Amino acid sequence: KSFQELNLPKHLLDAVFAMGFDRPSVIQEEALPRILADPPRNLIGQAQSGSGKTAAFTLGMLYRTKVDAPASTQAICCTPTRELAIQIFEKALKPMASNMEGLKVSLAVAGTNIERGKKLDAHIVIGTPGKIVDWLKRKAIVTKNIKVLVLDEADSMIEESGHRANSLLIKKQMPKKCQSLLFSATFPPEVVTFATKMVDNPDKILI
Ligand code: AMP
Repeated sequence: KSFQELNLPKHLLDAVFAMGFDRPSVIQEEALPRILADPPRNLIGQAQSGSGKTAAFTLGMLYRTKVDAPASTQAICCTPTRELAIQIFEKALKPMASNMEGLKVSLAVAGTNIERGKKLDAHIVIGTPGKIVDWLKRKAIVTKNIKVLVLDEADSMIEESGHRANSLLIKKQMPKKCQSLLFSATFPPEVVTFATKMVDNPDKILI
């Protein structure tokens, strides 16, 4: 299949080609029809880094996000580390959003802060679970328009019990209709248990 056949809107298709991606990777071909489906499908994907999973879920977040002002938060991506959050933002989200003028993205990681009492002005939040929970508890992130929750590297995520608990708290605060996408390189039993709590009624894909 080609990217055209996956029904990406033109602004995302142009960005993908500008990044030099000619054809979808195997996981993109499997995952994107579900990620872009209406009504959305929830997904648990087994994918190594290098498979192209980042592009798959990033396209999903951008597909569901309407650039409005003031910015309403419409997608959240949780990662186990600050470095991974920054990498997703710099290497995937930024270039893929090159035709989405006005899009605002916030990194919820150590070192970034929102003033007390202020609302976050971002369409997409990428960060670590602790910081995201902190902003949710302070009601800095408004949840009612959130359409996609991504959880990357679930196997690394649950190595820290704080990350596991905070991820579950985040999931509980998402609107009922929010799409959940979870990726992990491996699925030992404890990751399966965690994934089952994070993602309702998922499609499962294995690469
Ligand atoms: P990831 O598995 O998400 O860490 O991505 C691995 C690398 O593959 C990244 O450098 C991406 O830019 C690149 N990539 C992702 N999808 C494609 C594609 N369809 N064609 C070519 N390169 C890709």
